[in-house]
Amino acid sequence: MAKMYYDKDVDLNNLKNMKIAVAGYGSQGHAHAQNLRDSGCNVCIALYEGSRSAERAKNDGFEVKGVAQAVRDCDMLVMLLPDEKQKAVYDSEIEKNLKKGQTLVFAHGFNIHFGQITPPEYIDVIMVAPKGPGHLVRDVFKEGSGVPAVFAVYNNYTKSADKVVLEYAKGIGATRAGILETTFKEETETDLFGEQAVLCGGVNALMKAGFETLVAAGYQKEVAYFECLHEMKLVVDLLYSGGFEGMRYSISDTAEYGDYVSGGRIIDEHVKQSMRDVLADIQSGKFAKEWIAENKNGRLNFNRYREEAKNNEITKVGKELRSMMSFLNKK
Ligand code: NDP
Ligand code: MG
Ligand code: MG
Repeated sequence: MAKMYYDKDVDLNNLKNMKIAVAGYGSQGHAHAQNLRDSGCNVCIALYEGSRSAERAKNDGFEVKGVAQAVRDCDMLVMLLPDEKQKAVYDSEIEKNLKKGQTLVFAHGFNIHFGQITPPEYIDVIMVAPKGPGHLVRDVFKEGSGVPAVFAVYNNYTKSADKVVLEYAKGIGATRAGILETTFKEETETDLFGEQAVLCGGVNALMKAGFETLVAAGYQKEVAYFECLHEMKLVVDLLYSGGFEGMRYSISDTAEYGDYVSGGRIIDEHVKQSMRDVLADIQSGKFAKEWIAENKNGRLNFNRYREEAKNNEITKVGKELRSMMSFLNKK
């Protein structure tokens, strides 16, 4: 089994003496910044002039600086800007202000692995990539637990980056759940594959296809929504705490038998071949190239996909049903 690190294996001796600037106050940024501060670290936020998140960061009690100034003042800069914006900000505000021995932290390997950002050899470059959405990184921290993470050291100029990376993971609460070592290459390729083939792309397409199949066969769309989307959370909760066996313990034997005999008819060899094709496009850099070009060209396709998704039947029914579920806390 891969070596896992937990709270008891790591202290915070280096991290507590570092001035940390978190660039970006979005999904990951607000969570890392607040968790680090609660862990006793010295944290400020770096944003651009007029950023929509600046007000939120100030309301949460943080000092907010411009990115260039923050780089000049800090020992550690955490890159929590959207992946597609990191290169431009790095080129214009970060690179020329970097000093010997500083630490640059990433939460995803995309820009380093695909050669968008090439840091100088005189800084440390590390990654702590939480395996969960930013809002959960904060919420579960407040509840006393953590979101697991993978970590990697890309450049260890100071010879302490291998310690600091573990401390950073502890500071955001990830060692409460467990962390393990990876490389920028492995994290980037598996993260992109996971979100495309399974977590976001695959599961969303599966739920939508199931919904459409039932509706086309004449069943009520509200029933189809509950069967193919709403119940997903309840099943995933069982998977989260108990794995496949925990989930199968709670479902009926009828459901379990159907799982064995029909699952493989849906996710068959053809689907697996498609997964290998998706992985090949990630590994070759084809996907990254397309996504970088899409951003340069004003996101024409991306915006169109977003609009189309809003008009899907499942989106519309879901919106109506959820508006009547009083237990969903509206964020
Ligand atoms: P978000 O889009 O949620 O947040 C982006 C933040 O950056 C916002 O505060 C935004 O400000 C700010 N920003 C945008 N442009 C600039 C700029 N030019 N200069 C300064 N600040 C800017 O990003 P995420 O948290 O989703 O992603 C951050 C990193 O974390 C990425 O590398 C991503 O891959 C990684 N990651 C994300 C996960 C997630 O759950 N979202 C999971 C694991 C890793 P404004 O509000 O004004 O737009
Ligand atoms: Mg991921
Ligand atoms: Mg990702």
